[in-house]
Amino acid sequence: MNFVDLDPALRPLIESYLDPADRELLNPVLTALGADAAQRLAPLGDVADKNPPTLAQFDREGDRVDTIDYHASYQELQKAAYEEYGLSALSHRGLHGWEDVPPHLIKYILSYVFVQAEFGLACPVSMTDAAARTLRKFGEGPLVAEAVERLISTDPERRWTGAMFMTEIQAGTDIARTETVAERDGEDWVLSGRKWFASNPDADVILTLARYPGGDDTTRGVGLFMLPKHLADGSKNSYVIDRLKDKLGTRSMPSGEITLDRAYAIQIGELDRGFRQMAEMVNTSRLSNAMRSTALMRRSINEALAHARSRIVFGRPLVDAPLMRMTLLPLQAEAEAALGLVFHAGDTLQRADADDEVAAAQIRVLTPLAKHFICKRARFVTGEAMEVRGGRGYIEEWPDARFVRDSHLGSIWEGSSNVIALDVLRCMRKQNTHHLLAQTMTEKLGDITSAEAGPDVRELLSRWEGIVDRGEVILAAESDAAEALIGGYTDSLAQLIMATLLLEQADAEAARDGNWRKLLVARTFIGANILADESAVEAALAHFEDIVDGKTVPREALASTPAPVA
Ligand SMILES: Cc1cc2nc3c(=O)[nH]c(=O)nc-3n(C[C@H](O)[C@H](O)[C@H](O)COP(=O)(O)OP(=O)(O)OC[C@H]3O[C@@H](n4cnc5c(N)ncnc54)[C@H](O)[C@@H]3O)c2cc1C
Repeated sequence: MNFVDLDPALRPLIESYLDPADRELLNPVLTALGADAAQRLAPLGDVADKNPPTLAQFDREGDRVDTIDYHASYQELQKAAYEEYGLSALSHRGLHGWEDVPPHLIKYILSYVFVQAEFGLACPVSMTDAAARTLRKFGEGPLVAEAVERLISTDPERRWTGAMFMTEIQAGTDIARTETVAERDGEDWVLSGRKWFASNPDADVILTLARYPGGDDTTRGVGLFMLPKHLADGSKNSYVIDRLKDKLGTRSMPSGEITLDRAYAIQIGELDRGFRQMAEMVNTSRLSNAMRSTALMRRSINEALAHARSRIVFGRPLVDAPLMRMTLLPLQAEAEAALGLVFHAGDTLQRADADDEVAAAQIRVLTPLAKHFICKRARFVTGEAMEVRGGRGYIEEWPDARFVRDSHLGSIWEGSSNVIALDVLRCMRKQNTHHLLAQTMTEKLGDITSAEAGPDVRELLSRWEGIVDRGEVILAAESDAAEALIGGYTDSLAQLIMATLLLEQADAEAARDGNWRKLLVARTFIGANILADESAVEAALAHFEDIVDGKTVPREALASTPAPVA
């Protein structure tokens, strides 16, 4: 069992996006992690889910301690994520043979495989990574430098984890309503207030928001601060964990409520840019959310396929039933489409970090697009995959129920779906990003050389024209109408990008490997998601095994699977 071998889309995408030197370094660690995730980490994830952490607020002397006790399974997962695979460090330093920082995609690829085993821990891992990124960008001084060095350390004796205390009871979506206050205390600050959702609440370094004296009542009046868990003398900083949340999913990982009582804090960056700087951390995590939801899709499909292949119904394996294939194939296409978007976004982020302005504008909108669509669809895919296991799927002894529970969180945290869609509208208004995306995507379609993909390309080109027009209508509409329409528009835009990326990848695989499998995947996705035409999916069923097992589909096979066109 190796999660990488079970994934027909992963290695071909790696081949398309990474250069040979990076691929050579990635290969051994990817293969090792694929086996480790399937054989050791996934069972640990099951156990950790059944043994949630507990909070001890006082020690036996009655002193306030606020320690969180973790089950041994979660601790082993932590060791694997932070120390063995360095998932939170990979965007900051050389590891696994890279002398310098590897491309962002390396982190996303390895994390995607890890998350197939354990979803809950991926949140603190991502926040640790994002906190380091934010502090490196905006923080200064020796304490910040030490925090960064420890956040990106894989040394068990030195490494720290990060967290983000942003949400308050009255201020979740609407951060301008933040009530936590910051007061000057010499060079630094003390913070007082309550934070209502805090995952990884016993983190060593926390980034948080507080209202500073003289600031206005918008988000510009909220500054960004670094809150260390311990003070320089080793004593506990002045905040407490009031309780842990009883959650539907991510039960292995604690999320708590916090009261800050004149807690020592260090200002990060310009005070009136606190929220904007925090958005940097949130955006990094939002992309990670899309990757994590993709991993949940992938793993749940693996489980569904395993059951469908071993279960005998009416004298034959369930997987041979046409309607079961019809159920599974669109899920497979959806997971591959999501992975394609994650790769494209990770690659775009890389170029944006290298000061490519177009890439910066693109990743600004690709991030909410990916989060909005993929996280929501993960609920559907994991739910459908659970049903493939029949009654067993609903029983907690199997992992499917965990995937369904976990999948519901991706859409909610780090900005719930509607808020994310409104962010897409903001990007369109500021930077005309729907035009920018259309330009990039139609160029990709224009570069496709495979004649077999011609009808698919023409179909998508006309869809791109239509979607740009729809975007113009939204921008010209009254503000209320624009807001009302942006959710559906965001999904359509995301689906069209995913379909375009599937065709681009299909063309690459046909040219490189003489394999037209990906074109069938693209057609399945286009048929199911864009044209709502089941016949396109049905036409690909003849190659079901080839598609789900990642086998070669020769060019001749396409004769029986025509392109879906409207
Ligand atoms: C398990 C878990 C862990 C979390 N961990 C953290 C953490 O570590 N740190 C942290 O800071 N926060 C954390 N959160 C909080 C999370 O990010 C917020 O719950 C989320 O951003 C939504 O805010 P809210 O709960 O206040 O919802 P509200 O602001 O009350 O929003 C409710 C709903 O209204 C929608 N909505 C809001 N405005 C509009 C609008 N104008 N138009 C249409 N719809 C709108 C939203 O999309 C949402 O669906 C966590 C949440 C959960 C569930």
